[in-house]
Amino acid sequence: MASLYLHIPFCERKCLYCDFYSIESLAPMEEFLAGLAVEIQSYAPRGEGTRFDTVFFGGGTPSLLTPGQLGSILSRLRSTYTIATDAEITLETNPGTVTPEKLAAFRSMGVNRLSIGIQSFRDDELQFLGRIHDSSQAVEAVRLARGAGFDNVSIDLIYSLPGQTPDRWMYTLERGLALDPQHISAYSLIVEDNTPLARMVRARQVSPNPVEAEAALFELTMRILEENGFEHYEVSNYAKPGARSRHNYSYWSHVNYLGFGPSAHSFWRSDDGRSGERWANVANVSTYSRRLRDQERPLAFDEKVGLKELVNERIFLGLRSDGIDLRRLETEFAIGLDSAQRETVRQLVQESLAVLQGDMLRLTPRGFVLCDEIAARLMV
Ligand code: SF4
Repeated sequence: MASLYLHIPFCERKCLYCDFYSIESLAPMEEFLAGLAVEIQSYAPRGEGTRFDTVFFGGGTPSLLTPGQLGSILSRLRSTYTIATDAEITLETNPGTVTPEKLAAFRSMGVNRLSIGIQSFRDDELQFLGRIHDSSQAVEAVRLARGAGFDNVSIDLIYSLPGQTPDRWMYTLERGLALDPQHISAYSLIVEDNTPLARMVRARQVSPNPVEAEAALFELTMRILEENGFEHYEVSNYAKPGARSRHNYSYWSHVNYLGFGPSAHSFWRSDDGRSGERWANVANVSTYSRRLRDQERPLAFDEKVGLKELVNERIFLGLRSDGIDLRRLETEFAIGLDSAQRETVRQLVQESLAVLQGDMLRLTPRGFVLCDEIAARLMV
């Protein structure tokens, strides 16, 4: 199994909180697409003999692409790589950018999963976040997706906005559930450096929610979504049975992936699986396009990943998702938990922060709230 990621670096307007790389002008689209085509081709030798099971268009706002643009990217991917006939092909979609015709065209090209960035069903919250759509457009986007034949729809929501009460968050959660999505990603609002939100916090124009209030909203989210038939399979991700994101899973289990586009990351393991290589592209569409035009790799960094780092990542990613398979850790990396780590596992179970089911160490809902601290205690 392997995955492909494509970063489409354009947005109509930057949201207040977003630190993903994107620009607000579509002017460099043609040079970007030309560079992307070169980059896709350039990794053909690396991808030879590998079957790719997931393709993810992220960004940025991939739904700003025209059907013609998306179609030519998909054709190039299919003619360059072996893409499974049942591959999961996801497109991140902004409700402010879709029409029935566009969605029907995307579906007919083989896109079979939409990830719709809704964030909130309250218009005042959407305005605060700087979103380009209102709540009725969000509802309409899901309706249009169904009408275009998408039966695998994920919605993104954000909680713990400044001053958000449990009642206000429940309103958004309930409206989201009423749309019957197969998958919900619920993220807490993070104040990332170099965003307008961070500047507002520094200027004391807004105050982030206290940690305890955020934890209470997280616990509410876990409870409500699990009561409504969603499996909590990663800190921020919930799926109806059979609807987990295969693409996300590939990131969490060290599956090889190639990322194309400005700021995209890639990871490729060595043949013996005990080390790997990770690289990322520059987060600048002009530099990216120019370097590819000049036959150069548009890299920001390229580094080796050693065994210890792989093991630590597996511990961290396992805790964040559906657990660490202790036996697999041992067989895959020929390295087991040492006595201090085993003692930590015993304490976590005793403190009801984790459960040990056979060889699987899984966090409890209380453990998920403290996931980062627990990972730090367990990593070598
Ligand atoms: S639409 Fe998405 S990628 Fe674009 S600025 Fe907003 S959150 Fe970031």
